[in-house]
Amino acid sequence: MSFEALGLNPSILKALLDAGYTKPTPVQEQAVPAAIAGKDLLVSSQTGSGKTAAFMLPSLHRLADSEPAAAQGRTPNQEKQAAFARGERPRFKPAQPKMLVLTPTRELALQVTTNTDKYSVNLRRIKAVSILGGMPYPKQMQLLSRNPEILVATPGRLIDHMESGKIDFSQLQILVLDEADRMLDMGFIDDIEKIVAATPDNRQTMLFSATLDGVVGNMARRITKDPLVIQI
Ligand code: AMP
Repeated sequence: MSFEALGLNPSILKALLDAGYTKPTPVQEQAVPAAIAGKDLLVSSQTGSGKTAAFMLPSLHRLADSEPAAAQGRTPNQEKQAAFARGERPRFKPAQPKMLVLTPTRELALQVTTNTDKYSVNLRRIKAVSILGGMPYPKQMQLLSRNPEILVATPGRLIDHMESGKIDFSQLQILVLDEADRMLDMGFIDDIEKIVAATPDNRQTMLFSATLDGVVGNMARRITKDPLVIQI
């Protein structure tokens, strides 16, 4: 099986070639085509299985597909200049991400963001930023003001920004819970519930976890619709 056979767009295929990936891992083979088709996923897989690409590649494919054709190729800065030329003056607007990845730790969030940058290098309008506990607020405000398509966040800090009106999830299309069992072990259940409740019902949801039993299984089934279950 090749990455081409999974149905990914040429810009993403080129990035994978440049990253030295020659073929999909087992979790990617199963997850990518289903996620491109819009299915919810419940995946039990370990770190090192290639799970980040398993959710990020199909998400990038879908986000690239949903870009308005007229706006293709315009950078956020060019867009700001165009808006200014139309007489629109900048004022505070909440970020409206299209995709959110929740992770238990800062380290994992940064790793996911780094990998996303690698896979999206040829998709000019798609940017990912990390929102993490411990990062200075002014820096995070600056990142959010660019209205990135993708947020990668730890739950606590994300809630702070949500509650102060800095993030609006009404345009969210894709929600990923990475290492969901660890997030629950760390006591993030209430935060996760609050975040999920703020996202549209018609979103696509993908949940990754070492186990899909017990508490995490209950939550997984509550927040997904007719999911494809993948056990690696
Ligand atoms: P993960 O399980 O997402 O933490 O990925 C483990 C490592 O494998 C990361 O360093 C990825 O960059 C790498 N990786 C993921 N998918 C592939 C692939 N299909 N071919 C080669 N390396 C990969």
